[in-house]
Amino acid sequence: MSTPCYVVGGGIIGLLSALELAQAGEDVVIIDRQPVGQEASWAGGGILSPLYPWRYPEAVHPLARWSQDIYPELAESLRRETGIDSEWTRSGLLILDAEDSRVGVDWCRSHGLNAELVDPEQLSRLEPGLRNGSGMAVSLADVAQIRNPQLIKALVQRLRSLGVGFREGLAVTGFRRTDGSLRGIVTESGVLPANRCLIAAGPWSAALLETVGLDLPLRPVKGQMLLLKGESAPVSHILIRGARYVIPRRDGRILVGSTQEEVGFDKSATAEARDLLFSAACEMVPELGNWQIERHWAGLRPGSPDGIPYIGRHPEIVGLYVNTGHFRNGIVLAPASARLAADLMLGRSALLDLGQFSLVRM
Ligand SMILES: Cc1cc2nc3c(=O)[nH]c(=O)nc-3n(C[C@H](O)[C@H](O)[C@H](O)COP(=O)(O)OP(=O)(O)OC[C@H]3O[C@@H](n4cnc5c(N)ncnc54)[C@H](O)[C@@H]3O)c2cc1C
Repeated sequence: MSTPCYVVGGGIIGLLSALELAQAGEDVVIIDRQPVGQEASWAGGGILSPLYPWRYPEAVHPLARWSQDIYPELAESLRRETGIDSEWTRSGLLILDAEDSRVGVDWCRSHGLNAELVDPEQLSRLEPGLRNGSGMAVSLADVAQIRNPQLIKALVQRLRSLGVGFREGLAVTGFRRTDGSLRGIVTESGVLPANRCLIAAGPWSAALLETVGLDLPLRPVKGQMLLLKGESAPVSHILIRGARYVIPRRDGRILVGSTQEEVGFDKSATAEARDLLFSAACEMVPELGNWQIERHWAGLRPGSPDGIPYIGRHPEIVGLYVNTGHFRNGIVLAPASARLAADLMLGRSALLDLGQFSLVRM
């Protein structure tokens, strides 16, 4: 009897992987221990670029480029098919006061990105709402954003229309194997017969992999965010200074991020981070001092040591695959990662060299 192809985890990585598999004609079921799309994939900022692209390992770049190219088409096709607009918007990104601005611009240009070094005068013409006294900035005019909670809603609706199954509220606890091949997925309420399964459970993937003898160096990295509400948005670009950023959304609100905290699976939003983020935003854009904090939350990034995701097969269990470890860039990297995971599972020729994403890479 044929069994479905299972995806464990309904974040952006699991949902897009399921879409790739379903569009290739596979019978797909997503299992999540809670309603899908409630974790980092909901909590994230939706910037469709690594924050300082030149500071990442080379392997991240082709994943980002491929995904950036496909995002407008993906958002538009989901809008057409579901009526849900995920608000893909080319806001442009201004990176303020980076000490390696010149290196950054050179790197970006050599990687085919549209990058300019902008002096303080040009900067205040581009963004009059910025605090006076900013130094040189890097402008990446093609960088876009997406409203990730909307993207998730659209994906879920699209997947349902393709007949993908959802088993929400069901936690996976392990796997059964016989003679080196996957035979079942162990859940809280029994074993599901299975011979193909993709683990896309964010930072919780590490615990699942431990049950099958694989020690992946994956850790949760907490990030806190604020949503600000005010009169009319004083900026139109995404702005980054140091580790903090400001994202002007289409609905006039502003997102402020983010912290990077190594506190295990603790997802609490703290007063300390709220104050830090708010003052960093006001430091960049003084007018935000008159805005209200409408919401404050935290999410857990699936942190890999180098920011390079793990996309590959389990080294010993035929039929068991992994797609996780996207750290700060899971939203931007998701389309390419999903395509790669599906290439691997379906035996298609792969979009990119899979070796660099292997679970057992050195
Ligand atoms: C504050 C913040 C800001 C960010 N900003 C950006 C940004 O601007 N741009 C960008 O590209 N990225 C950003 N990121 C990173 C991005 O959000 C993540 O890399 C990405 O969402 C990870 O997606 P995922 O599907 O792997 O994991 P998740 O979204 O965590 O999904 C994992 C799913 O697995 C399920 N699950 C876990 N364990 C089990 C189990 N045992 N059984 C069944 N189901 C299970 C969970 O319930 C969850 O639904 C940000 C992250 C944070 C926290």
